[in-house]
Amino acid sequence: MISYTSKLQESTSIFSVMSKLSAEHNAINLGQGFPNFDCNPILLERIAYYLNDNKNQYAPSIGVEVLRSAIADKIKSLYDTEVNHDTEITITAGATQAIFSIINTFIKGKDEVIIIEPAYDSYKPSIELAGGVVVPYRLEAPDFKINWQAISELLTERTRMIIVNTPHNPTGTILSELDILALQTLVSGKNIIVLSDEVYEHLIYDDQQHESVLRYSELYNQSLAVYSFGKTFHATGWKIGYCVGPAHLMTEMRKHHQWNVFSVNSFIQYALADYLREESSYNGLATFYQKKRDHFNTVINGTSLKPLASQGTYFQLFDYSEVSDKSDLEFAKDMVTEWGIASIPLSPFYSDGSEDKLVRFCFAKTEALLDQAGELLRRM
Ligand code: PMP
Repeated sequence: MISYTSKLQESTSIFSVMSKLSAEHNAINLGQGFPNFDCNPILLERIAYYLNDNKNQYAPSIGVEVLRSAIADKIKSLYDTEVNHDTEITITAGATQAIFSIINTFIKGKDEVIIIEPAYDSYKPSIELAGGVVVPYRLEAPDFKINWQAISELLTERTRMIIVNTPHNPTGTILSELDILALQTLVSGKNIIVLSDEVYEHLIYDDQQHESVLRYSELYNQSLAVYSFGKTFHATGWKIGYCVGPAHLMTEMRKHHQWNVFSVNSFIQYALADYLREESSYNGLATFYQKKRDHFNTVINGTSLKPLASQGTYFQLFDYSEVSDKSDLEFAKDMVTEWGIASIPLSPFYSDGSEDKLVRFCFAKTEALLDQAGELLRRM
């Protein structure tokens, strides 16, 4: 008999596990990060328009020009940075594919990649598939601040990449200007690429500013930043995003991208290009989600779960140590089966699976659903 095994040890992603369990128990799913409301009807109208306008054949591998050009204008207006839409922007099948292609372009044979944990779960397997070595740096609850001196001590001759994520999934923390300057100093003059995961760039609260690597010209020169239209426009199922970086890195990344997906579906690209031209399509998102965050914190008041501050993303962590001493995975499963609420335990975001009695809730939901969730949680 022939037997096949993949190179990856890890089985199913925790997001799939919790969503499946949630569906089986008809629970309120505050686990996986997706909105339970639809995207803007103007965007849907644009999609229908281009679907019926013969935009159904292959797009160019790097993405359609009108979309890349709209993105470059958005970057100029948000971050005051000029990027060349022909050489510095590539449209990808979601941020996940951008991350995968970037890692697999630049990482090979025992190259080391520093990831900051808790970390989004696609980084580690992408590094391992490329043959690289994951070097985790652990953030500590409750403020999850990066100690850059400690990160610098992880650098070796083999360090090729550092992955940062701001606003940060799952903790809801953000990097400050000082953090970015420390990162810039850390990698300056070294053969290290920064992969900056900025999929929640617009979801940032309390009048704080998103510190994109695109704002810092020296750092940008050795960075690739990734973005997700799914996150920005409440359409996670479309799996469309983009990657921005200097031409010398983008040229290399595109070599991988063309053999990975070749190109991304075309009609959605045209629709997004029109929609992006309206600044209101993204400028109101921080206020919109901050209201949801605040509403969620109000409805969850009176439960024994202790909230940690969420400064960005549409996630909020809760400390359940006063309620249970079970592992986070067991506790999250119990919450589904006994209380009808799905969350995401934090341990799968650590490469050693360690845990801090924390679970993550997604508040990208209608107020009515958040109210129902609060009611169930107060009975806990
Ligand atoms: N990075 C982070 C931090 C995320 O939370 C997500 C989505 N959950 C992604 C990347 C992937 O984005 P996409 O759905 O566009 O592939």
